[in-house]
Amino acid sequence: MFTCSHCKNEFCYKGDVSEAPAFCPTRGSSADRELERYDEEDRKMARAAAIVEGRYYGMLTRVEEIMEFALQMGYHHIGVGFCGGLMAEAKIFVDILRANGFQVDSIDCKNGSVEKTLMGVDQNDFVHCERADERMCNPAGQAEKLDAAGCELNVLVGLCVGHDSLFIKHSKAPVTVLAAKDRVLGHNPIAAIYTADSYRKSLYHYVKNREKIAELKSKKDHEL
Ligand code: SF4
Repeated sequence: MFTCSHCKNEFCYKGDVSEAPAFCPTRGSSADRELERYDEEDRKMARAAAIVEGRYYGMLTRVEEIMEFALQMGYHHIGVGFCGGLMAEAKIFVDILRANGFQVDSIDCKNGSVEKTLMGVDQNDFVHCERADERMCNPAGQAEKLDAAGCELNVLVGLCVGHDSLFIKHSKAPVTVLAAKDRVLGHNPIAAIYTADSYRKSLYHYVKNREKIAELKSKKDHEL
């Protein structure tokens, strides 16, 4: 079992793992073996990412880093796969990219307008259960349409957990994320981690309590 998260010291960062724990995945490895994992395109991407990190460390917002990464890679055509709930934010992001000379295609998560029930989603699991039908998120459609448009890099803006996984699975172009959806924390999911040992200790008991939370949502739906 790998448990880098609980390593007492990031020995790999310092270049000497002789004192690293027994589970250390760097032990028994070699630079050659690790580099074999990267083809030419991967290496170009790794160098571009390193330049964005090293040359501009702490100076660029993520929006700027995405543009810098695209420039380093020679990408001109950017795809934006966004959540309909963040359309206003997506519009500003697209305007910024275009103002900086990029060609941009953007696709809403509800593209295709397919009813959720056709995917086998029960009406009780709709966001708005009182409605007779609800349109599903279509991340495979987003990814494949952006690929067909010729996008060289796809950027996710607020896709749901799992929908983002499907987008990444279906996208032929590399994918990066501008915003990860968190409806409770204003799309700042790491805030849950920062408060896990204070206000949000309940995080440690989520699995035990998840059915109660689902019941609360159901009760709320019926009260509305
Ligand atoms: S790779 Fe080894 S040294 Fe690095 S964090 Fe993991 S266990 Fe620690």
